[in-house]
Amino acid sequence: MAEERPIYLDHQATTPCDPRVVDAMLPYLTGEFGNAASRTHAYGWNAAAAVDRARGQVAALIGADPREIVFTSGATEANNLAILGAARAALRGGDRDIHLLTCRTEHRAVLDPCESLKPEGVRVTALDVDALGRLDAAAFEKALNGGATLVSLMHANNEIGVVHDIASLSGATRERGVLFHCDAAQSVGKLPVDARALGVDLLSFTAHKLYGPKGIGALWVRRGDPPVRLVPQILGGGHERGLRSGTVPVALVVAFGVACEIAAVEREDEATRLAALRDALLARLSSELDGVHLNGHAELRLPGNLNVSFEGVESEALLMALPGVALSSGSACTSARPEPSHVLRALGLGAARAHSAVRIGLGRTTTPGEIERAGSQIVAEVRRLRELSPTWESRGRVRT
Ligand SMILES: *Cc1c(COP(=O)(O)O)cnc(C)c1O
Repeated sequence: MAEERPIYLDHQATTPCDPRVVDAMLPYLTGEFGNAASRTHAYGWNAAAAVDRARGQVAALIGADPREIVFTSGATEANNLAILGAARAALRGGDRDIHLLTCRTEHRAVLDPCESLKPEGVRVTALDVDALGRLDAAAFEKALNGGATLVSLMHANNEIGVVHDIASLSGATRERGVLFHCDAAQSVGKLPVDARALGVDLLSFTAHKLYGPKGIGALWVRRGDPPVRLVPQILGGGHERGLRSGTVPVALVVAFGVACEIAAVEREDEATRLAALRDALLARLSSELDGVHLNGHAELRLPGNLNVSFEGVESEALLMALPGVALSSGSACTSARPEPSHVLRALGLGAARAHSAVRIGLGRTTTPGEIERAGSQIVAEVRRLRELSPTWESRGRVRT
C-alpha cells in the first residue's frame, strides 16, 4: 500500500509548482536550452524571445512595464538588492545620514540586510506593531519626520498573514522624497498588487510562493522621475540592465511568467475559495475546542493563512503528534529549546501563547476534504495532548 503523504498546509513556506508551469518550462531545459545573451544563433534568439514573453507576464501581474522587472534568484536576493543597493547608492551620492526605516515583523531577508549596513554608518529603525500585527500610521509618520532614506515594509506577513495598508503609508514617503521598498513575496498572486497604485519604488516577489519553481524571483524597480538609484550587488556580464549579472535561467523565468499569468486569471476566485475554507476551519476549531486564539488581525489577513495558539499545547508537541498534516510552528529552531519567532515576539504575546502558535497555510491544491480531515486530526490531538497535560487538567478543574 502506498504511504499516504501528509496534507500540505504550509503554503506560506512554499507552494508546489503548478503542472501547467512545469509543462511550460520543460522545453527550455532540453531542446531550447540556449543562453538568452547569445546574439549569434537561433538557440539564443529563441531563449531571448521566451525571456521577453515571461518578463511581460511577470510585469503584467503587478501592473508594471516589462523594463522595470529585474530577475533575481528569489525574494531574498530582491530584498538585498533593494536595500543594499539603495543604501549604497545614497552613500556614494555623499549622503552622510542614511536612515533605514523598517518594521519588527519583517522577514529576515529584510532585517538582516538592514542590520548589515550598520558598520557602514547607516542608522536602522525597526518600528513596533500592535498586538494584532498592525503598524500605526501616526507612529510611522513621526519616524519619517526624523529623516529617512529608504522605507522597507512588507505587504503581507509570512507568519501571521497580516496585510499592511501600503498605499496609505506610501503617501507620506512620497511627499518627503523617501524611497519605499515593499517585500510582496506573500501577496503577489494572492492579493491585488499594482506596484504603482501601492505608491512604492521597489517591490520584491518570488515564483515559489505563487506556484512557480524555487530559485527565481524579481525586483520591480520603478522607472521615471525621480529615478531610483541602485548599486548592483552582483557584478559580471551586465545582465538585467547591469543590476543583476548572471546568465538568466531561461526555464525558471518561463515558469515564473506562466505562474504569474495563471495567478492573474485565477487569483480572485481562488482567494474567495481559500478564505471560505480557512474561515470554516477556524470556526470548527473554535467550536470544538476551548482556548483557541487567533494570532494576528482577523480580517487584514492573507486569504490562505491562519496562525492559532492552542492553550496548554506546545506547538512542537502538536506538530510531532500530527504526522498526517504538514504545518509550521511559530518557532525558530536555532537552539535546543525553540524560541518563538521575532514576529510573535513583536506582537507581545505571552510566552505560553507564543510557544503554542501554529501556522496553517492553505493553497491552490487544498481541498475541502483535506480541511475536514486536517481539522479532525488537529482537534483530536489537541484534546489528547491536553489530557496528558497536568497544567491543562488543573485549569479544567478550576473552571468547572
Ligand atoms: C518567502 C519569503 C521571502 C524569501 O523569498 P525567497 O524567494 O525564498 O528568497 C522573503 N520575504 C517574505 C515575506 C517571504 O514570505
